[in-house]
Amino acid sequence: MAKCIVTGGAGFVGSNLVDALIGHGDEVIVIDNLATGKKEYVNPKARFYELDLRKLEDIAPLFLDVDYVFHQAALARVEPSIKDPITYNDNNVNTTLNVLVAARDAKVKKVVYASSSSIYGDQEKMPLTEDTPGAPISPYGLQKYIGEQYCRVFSYVYKLPTVCLRYFNVYGKRMATEGAYASVISIFGQQRQRGEAMTITGDGTHLRTYTYVGDIVRANMLAAESNIDDGRAINTGQSTEYSVNEIAKIFGGPTKNIAERIEPTRNFCSNKLAAEVLGWEPTMDLPAWLPEYKKEMGIN
Ligand code: NAD
Repeated sequence: MAKCIVTGGAGFVGSNLVDALIGHGDEVIVIDNLATGKKEYVNPKARFYELDLRKLEDIAPLFLDVDYVFHQAALARVEPSIKDPITYNDNNVNTTLNVLVAARDAKVKKVVYASSSSIYGDQEKMPLTEDTPGAPISPYGLQKYIGEQYCRVFSYVYKLPTVCLRYFNVYGKRMATEGAYASVISIFGQQRQRGEAMTITGDGTHLRTYTYVGDIVRANMLAAESNIDDGRAINTGQSTEYSVNEIAKIFGGPTKNIAERIEPTRNFCSNKLAAEVLGWEPTMDLPAWLPEYKKEMGIN
């Protein structure tokens, strides 16, 4: 049994991870300011602290005697980061620095950092491997990249074991449903539920790798137990890709095209390194999961 902190444990990925750690018999502390997370998502067997990671003095005492820190907290969407880069920087970069400082001072065994495929930006060469140079095209992508670099530097300078996982469009139970935070899958799900046309940005041909949240949770647990401790970043995405048009087709129903957004045209993932160094492979593919989701949403 290990003692773990999950930052952002009231959010989508974090709350799924908390459930799995508790199921595994671990002791879990959740730190979340409920900016986008929900208290009801927090497993009642976890110790929940409604605190803001921007305040180091508030969070530091919680890190004493902790084995593993899973740093999931962030303001996790691209579009709003373009509108408000300063708030996003505070919540995505300064928070990560505070978590690393607290983890270093408490001598935790490892920090696992939730990074993102958005660090790659819009690349020509596919699939995206860890050798592809980072070239973010949004404040959010840049902030996740800075977080990775901070992990690497903390491992190098302070010998704090860290590892970064680059998530690729995560979906599953408790994915965001509201406003700018919603993913295309939950937007389509809700639109179909309300009998509305599904809104496709641009011509709907841009391709995405979609990854099941259960697979991401497992990647986090494997990363904590692995011998990777140098802040290396590892892709944890499915090895399939679907266009927005294809997803709409699987949902079935009317569509309408809306204005294009600043976003990469493709983010096809190579997950070979994760298989090699973590023994991780995804188990779920989006088309296999969508029928279950449609059923749950009452969509026929
Ligand atoms: P989420 O919004 O559901 O969860 C993030 C949590 O962090 C929320 O509960 C929020 O309240 C909390 N939080 C934000 N700022 C905070 C602060 N200052 N102090 C304390 N808590 C704070 O997002 P998610 O989709 O679960 O994303 C989890 C992590 O995975 C994020 O770091 C995100 O960047 C990364 N990620 C997610 C995806 C995805 O598709 N969901 C893709 C790539 C990377």
